[in-house]
Amino acid sequence: MGYSELQNSLLKVINEASPEGILVVDGNGIIVSHNDRFIEIWRIPGDRLHGVEPGTAIGNDDARILSTVLDRVKDTQAFLARVQELYNNPHLSDHCEIELLDGRTIERHSSVLRGDDDRYLGRVWFFRDISERKMAEEKMRISSIAFETQEAILIADVNATIISVNKSFERLTGYSAAEAIGKNPNILKSGRHDADFYRSMWYSLRENGFWSGEMWDKRKDGTLYPKWLTITTVRNEAGDATHYVAIFMDLSERKRAEEEIQRLAFFDTLTQLPNRRLLMDRLDQALAISQRNGSHGALMFMDLDNFKMLNDTQGHDIGDLLLIDVAARLKPCVRESDTVARLGGDEFVVILQELGDSAIHAANQAETVAEKIVSALNEPYLLNNHEHHSSVSVGVCLFHGKKVKREELLKRADTAMYQAKKNGRNMVRFFESAMQSAVEARAVLEGQLRHALGRQELQLYYQMQVDDEHRITGAEVLLRWFSAKLGFVSPAQFIPIAEENGLILPIGAWVLEMACQQLHVWSQHAGTRQLELAVNVSARQFHQSDFVEQVKAGLRNFDFEPSKLKLELTESLVQGDINDTIVKMNMLKKLGVKFSMDDFGTGYSSLSSLKMLPLDQLKIDQSFVQDIVADKNDEVIVRTIIDMARNFGLNVIAEGVETCAQLEILQRNGCANFQGYYFSKPVPLKDFEVLLTQAMHGNTDREKPV
Ligand code: C2E
Ligand code: MG
Ligand code: MG
Repeated sequence: MGYSELQNSLLKVINEASPEGILVVDGNGIIVSHNDRFIEIWRIPGDRLHGVEPGTAIGNDDARILSTVLDRVKDTQAFLARVQELYNNPHLSDHCEIELLDGRTIERHSSVLRGDDDRYLGRVWFFRDISERKMAEEKMRISSIAFETQEAILIADVNATIISVNKSFERLTGYSAAEAIGKNPNILKSGRHDADFYRSMWYSLRENGFWSGEMWDKRKDGTLYPKWLTITTVRNEAGDATHYVAIFMDLSERKRAEEEIQRLAFFDTLTQLPNRRLLMDRLDQALAISQRNGSHGALMFMDLDNFKMLNDTQGHDIGDLLLIDVAARLKPCVRESDTVARLGGDEFVVILQELGDSAIHAANQAETVAEKIVSALNEPYLLNNHEHHSSVSVGVCLFHGKKVKREELLKRADTAMYQAKKNGRNMVRFFESAMQSAVEARAVLEGQLRHALGRQELQLYYQMQVDDEHRITGAEVLLRWFSAKLGFVSPAQFIPIAEENGLILPIGAWVLEMACQQLHVWSQHAGTRQLELAVNVSARQFHQSDFVEQVKAGLRNFDFEPSKLKLELTESLVQGDINDTIVKMNMLKKLGVKFSMDDFGTGYSSLSSLKMLPLDQLKIDQSFVQDIVADKNDEVIVRTIIDMARNFGLNVIAEGVETCAQLEILQRNGCANFQGYYFSKPVPLKDFEVLLTQAMHGNTDREKPV
């Protein structure tokens, strides 16, 4: 073949420099040239290279090489078919990829060589090992599949600028890739974590190159969601951080599922009330709390009366409707912290907590709640448009600490419930007979108290108040109840009940009116015009909306000097609703009425709240006076109260003064007003008037103490 010298040397250079394996075959299938790269790519052993030129395959029939090549190829059939096609169509060029058995991929290109007259001269074959490129492509493919997973992925550069996010990110956060890229990931911040939280996250990323944990984020639409987040720091070979990859998944679904599992495990599916399991748990907690703080609690066992009949005659669906209704009526009967549970069937259980230190008081409170439940469940039901009447039997037992096991408590409440059924249903019964009699006695007392005013069983007694010269400055009016059925009942017993059931409102109004009337009578006489009357006002009475109006009416209807009316408030009344108290006291103050703080020292008034109140007097509680002779501490307390009163510009009165010794100590400490048996017990008005007359005539039967 007539190649020029230049052409020859050019070919040689191309041959050697080419990264491709090159094989040239003439029209007869004889190898004309090949380069070393060709031998390398196909890994053709030396013994296959015996050719005309030593060490090369040049001059060989290409079939020899072909057979070696075939040994390397994965799909020989396809390979041969292609080669055959090229031989049959010498004018075809060809391009293909060939996979080898050793895992490599070879790219093949075959070009036709033509003479000047377009004669077929032969072929050049180019082979290129593209394994690495293939592998890189595959890797890319895999990683791009991995990138588009269910988990959201965010990639940020070292300045925490988002450079890439996946589809799951868009779906989960609501931000499109275009919106997120270029921003700081803090667009996702929920505001639920403090600065410390993020500080420690960044610290861990810097130190460990890794952080993972639960975090609350905000979607574009503003909704918050919990996610599980893993952040990894990507570093370059020098160890410097170049990127951060954050992968996270939405935990809301999982949390919802967990809650659902929780609900199914611990709540009754029909009524949504706690089930037996949760009840036991709550009961354990209630017992532990009672043990810790010493307060009583109550357990109530309830069974609907005649529920079976409804179920049997109307069907279970209607029965279910009743149970749902009952559950809805039970909940508002108790406090938020109490538990209402359904044991199963038509049995419900209630746990009441924090009923106080006294068992009797706890029993009374439990009784009140139980009666409320009985009457709530007595209201007619509308079941599928049919009116239905039902009732319930309630058994109650008290608990105090962990002395009695929970199973025993449930048994007791159950026993009491059967007692209620046996006694005629639709009622409350206590397990403890003492409690049963106590609540019954209270119920009787309450029943009688309702008629006390109407039957004129209430009277006012007057207990004098004196100054340091023993001059009578006035009196405190104290209620007395002489019940036709129960005999004398102490105010300490009936006032708290009247406060609970609201009877204190009409009773208190009556006391106030009587006091105003008496002040009017006294105002008509020179000898009594200067007398003050102290009236006790209970919290419920004071906080009712028209209390100021009531006092106004008293002043209007009975003409007297308003400053002679002194209202005794307690510290707990003031603390109950301090704003209402301040407003009302100031309105009353404007009318000219005076205020005394009763039982002072037993509450927890703060100095700051005392300062805000327009008080005139502090009344030292009788408990301090009682022990003042024997207990030095009490004397210190009394002196402190007196000093404080002086600083606030208030007057001080000591109540419960019974002995001369108490009086002397009080006087020594600067107290100038007194009330107590030492001067006089509370007495009916007639007797008080006798005492007044005696005093006016200097006829006291007691020596003035020194
Ligand atoms: P209180 O307002 O602190 O009344 C003082 C109580 O101490 C009265 O008890 C009185 O009889 C008693 N007492 C007075 N001097 C002495 C004494 O020297 N020694 C002893 N040991 N006791 C003395 P009482 O009358 O049984 O009243 C008890 C509480 O009932 C009163 O405490 C007051 O909180 C309430 N109360 C009485 N009447 C009324 C009223 O009309 N309305 C209201 N809301 N509560 C009233
Ligand atoms: Mg009082
Ligand atoms: Mg008092």
